[in-house]
Amino acid sequence: MIEVYEATDIGCVRQTNEDSELVFEPAVYVAADGMGGYAAGEVASRLLVDTVRGCLAGHDVIGTADLRDAVLAGNRSILNCVARHPEYQGMGTTATILHLESGEARWAHVGDSRLYLLRDNELRQITRDHSYVEGLVERGTITREEARSHPKKNMLLRAVGIGSDLDVDTGSFPLADGDVFLLATDGLTNMVDDSSITALLRIPESDPAKALVAEARRCGGRDNITALVVKWHS
Ligand code: CA
Repeated sequence: MIEVYEATDIGCVRQTNEDSELVFEPAVYVAADGMGGYAAGEVASRLLVDTVRGCLAGHDVIGTADLRDAVLAGNRSILNCVARHPEYQGMGTTATILHLESGEARWAHVGDSRLYLLRDNELRQITRDHSYVEGLVERGTITREEARSHPKKNMLLRAVGIGSDLDVDTGSFPLADGDVFLLATDGLTNMVDDSSITALLRIPESDPAKALVAEARRCGGRDNITALVVKWHS
């Protein structure tokens, strides 16, 4: 059995919500954080999730290669849109996709939105951020805490819709009873620390997506906030 909770919110500061999220059958979950001026970020993240749905909705078997191909199709959709609408030049989006099937979790990822797994009360970040600050953290130049408020926090090294060559990270692993997945944009993860995320995901019989968004707003809500929570029971 799968329980799904979704919430996306403009936050407390921004004028538009450039995040998009989508849930569709068979058990596919997508989060995207758009960027670009003049509302182009909204266009980019929406194009990504709609293209992914067009590629995967209703398919019987979806492997990691299919998830990657769907992100690459989204990349082409955005580039084609920019070619027709020069005012959208520079728009792009992150893409984080999760699919649950046959006792397995499969994912694909570009950018700095994140997929987490809460298992055995331990929150693990499954995806790796494709950001400038992540490189600094991995080299030990700054701490993970400093990265959350670094002036170059928003500089991405990879995004969907920026160029025709795109590397998409993918992975898969066996599911365990009680696994809880979180797909989140950085408007959540920059505002709410891992211990608070863990605590909110563990509260039974509540809507964890709404609770996470409310906590991000309480902490300042400086960016758009998206949380998609998927609980899996065998
Ligand atoms: Ca964001």
